[in-house]
Amino acid sequence: MVLGELGGRIARAIQQMSNATIVDENVLNECLREITRALLQADVRFELVRDTQTNIKNAVNLDRLATGYNKRNIIQQAIFNELCKMLDTEKPSFTPKKGKTSVVMFVGLQGSGKTTTCTKYAHYYQKKGWKPALVCSDTFRAGAFDQLKQNATKAKIPFYGSYVESDPVQIAIEGVARFKEENCDLIIVDTSGRHKQEAALFEEMRQVSEATNPDLAIFVMDGSIGQAAYDQAQAFKQSVAVGAVIVTKMDGHAKGGGALSAVAATKSPLIFIGTGEHMHEFEVFNVKPFVKRLLG
Ligand code: GDP
Repeated sequence: MVLGELGGRIARAIQQMSNATIVDENVLNECLREITRALLQADVRFELVRDTQTNIKNAVNLDRLATGYNKRNIIQQAIFNELCKMLDTEKPSFTPKKGKTSVVMFVGLQGSGKTTTCTKYAHYYQKKGWKPALVCSDTFRAGAFDQLKQNATKAKIPFYGSYVESDPVQIAIEGVARFKEENCDLIIVDTSGRHKQEAALFEEMRQVSEATNPDLAIFVMDGSIGQAAYDQAQAFKQSVAVGAVIVTKMDGHAKGGGALSAVAATKSPLIFIGTGEHMHEFEVFNVKPFVKRLLG
């Protein structure tokens, strides 16, 4: 996985620093320069990289470290902390509660993996004994309902959609009402993700959100989109109250930076990552183990 390259480069930079006889300003600067290059090449937004570099330098402050301190450990810890901070948002996302009805709306561009992720998310909770349900409010893309229906049927998850109703808001309202009546505890609303007519997309998203009053809106993003991630995530956040992020296709050419940028843009935590096309290729995201793994 390409993401590993980022971790590999950072780990090598730290190793190189550790090989130096004395860790002084120059050695630290060289290490930080290499980390900066690695982050930029992994598509992390420039401003974010710059802040990270400054924060590490401030946290380390070589001058103030008395001899006897293990400078390498301190630097290593500062780098670890900064990478965690990039992915850690202070407030946790809304967490649905089993047995209590929650409405979760999925938003994201077409092709991001939104529909696939809706089913993965439902399946994840279903395995834990929940009663999830899927609502297809995407009336824009021909075949969207069929796709959701097919996925849902395979996973034995109830679904709602329509071949005739063209108003996504109406479908969302009906679907959510139906599953509330059926006492489903997790009602997942898949929305349209058209590429063009973005203004119309955002307006529709806003209307669906207003009509269904979701407990959580999850922004789904393709992990391999690179530098475009920040702006895209921010645009979604401005139209709907995004509360969590899921990044897909982390098995492919994702360099990882997109994920970091999406978290920064939405100020919302990354809660799962998609690691393949199949239902079970879906992982809970935890910051510290992820960064640990990244740094090898
Ligand atoms: P939507 O238009 O956003 O609803 O996207 P889809 O759910 O239709 O997914 C678009 C394509 O991405 C499909 O071919 C999916 O199988 C694929 N896909 C979704 N998630 C992942 C993932 O985590 N890894 C890989 N490799 N492919 C994925």
